[in-house]
Amino acid sequence: MPKRKKTKIVATLGPATGTKEILKKMIEQGVDVFRINFSHADYEDVKERIKMIRELSKEFGYNTSILADLQGPKLRVGVMAEDVIVEPGDEITFCTGKEFKGTSKKVYMNYQNFPRDVKAGERILLDDGKLMFEVIATDGKKEVKTKVIQGGPLKSKKGVNLPNTAISLPALTEKDINDAIFAIGQEVDWLALSFVRNSQDLIDLQAIINEHSEHKIPIIAKIEKPEAVANIDKIVAYCDGLMVARGDLGVEVPAEEVPLIQKQLVLRAKKARIPVIIATQMMETMITSLTPTRAEVNDVANSVMDGADAVMLSGETSVGKYPVQVIEQMTKIIRSVEDSPLITVPHSPPHIRTKRYITKSICYHASHMANEIKAKAICTLTNSGYTAFQISAWRPDSDILVFTSNYRILSQLNLLWGVKAFFYDKFVSTDDTVEDVNRIAKEKGFVKKNDMLINLAAMPITDKGMVNTLRVSLIE
Ligand code: PGA
Ligand code: MN
Repeated sequence: MPKRKKTKIVATLGPATGTKEILKKMIEQGVDVFRINFSHADYEDVKERIKMIRELSKEFGYNTSILADLQGPKLRVGVMAEDVIVEPGDEITFCTGKEFKGTSKKVYMNYQNFPRDVKAGERILLDDGKLMFEVIATDGKKEVKTKVIQGGPLKSKKGVNLPNTAISLPALTEKDINDAIFAIGQEVDWLALSFVRNSQDLIDLQAIINEHSEHKIPIIAKIEKPEAVANIDKIVAYCDGLMVARGDLGVEVPAEEVPLIQKQLVLRAKKARIPVIIATQMMETMITSLTPTRAEVNDVANSVMDGADAVMLSGETSVGKYPVQVIEQMTKIIRSVEDSPLITVPHSPPHIRTKRYITKSICYHASHMANEIKAKAICTLTNSGYTAFQISAWRPDSDILVFTSNYRILSQLNLLWGVKAFFYDKFVSTDDTVEDVNRIAKEKGFVKKNDMLINLAAMPITDKGMVNTLRVSLIE
């Protein structure tokens, strides 16, 4: 059996991935998580895709995860009445209020407080930063006068970024609240929130989850604003995962600052032992071509070597011509680098005596012991999935096999580096369970005779408490 790919792949759904056959092929080639981008989603369509993915998991035992990505306060200009090309030095007024069709003089902006929040001298970036404007004056009510700094075609509905402006919009728009409630109803595995600025944004989303779901749905904070980078410690304390959202981040901060921010965010996530996804333009050329560029291959490889849990595809799988082949290529890149000894995980064993200190310490030592004795698998029994997060963060060479009776976390944990989950609901005695789990690991081909395996469990087992026991097994 070939070694399993440990770094996970997140693929965005879209028109290019409409059939069960394509979804199945993508999973077979290495997709672990499907992302629903609520900037473009139609509810009926989403329901159908979720059903297909869940059916595939049931039929083939995949546990593919589903991530619902909320748009957040995304700013946009309105529809343009004509083709407009702006030149440096031109004056353009951005107006709020009632929507109208834009001209070469006036353009509609969908953010009502814009004239109040913006100040003279601040920058307005349009269409992924292709166009740049500087604010000359604002009337504080409806109109903002600007001068073009960098020109180009000004197109309908393009996204606006305001890197210097403190935006007074709530993190969750009305659309986001509706989308979140819908996604929760569909029992998605993860929720991601765009344009997070501070911990309050996450607390607001958490309140919606608490109100509409009996189960915990973990939250991914998309880091795509300079404020989020500045507030990262507080954000990490209120989320369950990070996304390095390089698309908007590279507009909000100079693009050349993104590589170091990526490294910093990966380290921050690893320190908190939460997963981190690297996103956007990873295999961009493969939207239309069968061959990625050397730079793209290097980018995916370097993201893996930085310590990403997952790498993400957007346009490549949502609208691209080669949604299956791009996964095949990405899997090849991941496999060729992820076992390199050049990849190192910073060592700093858990030392703060929180209430989960024992469990944390056991997971840390299990990972290091597994490397030392060359154990082929670490098997853990969990109800909340907590130990899977802990072990995964230490990046052991062995497989991480998670056994749980909580069917909701089977697919949730599929985002985590190196983790594979199995349903297991017999809790007779620790001896029986260890024997059972080891037999399953052998049956599924993760270990063979004479391999070492590490078992983690909570004793007494019937209490379903926190992991407090480590046992080493020699497979017979
Ligand atoms: P998006 O997020 O694709 O939802 O904009 C990712 C990014 O900004 O990189
Ligand atoms: Mn974004």
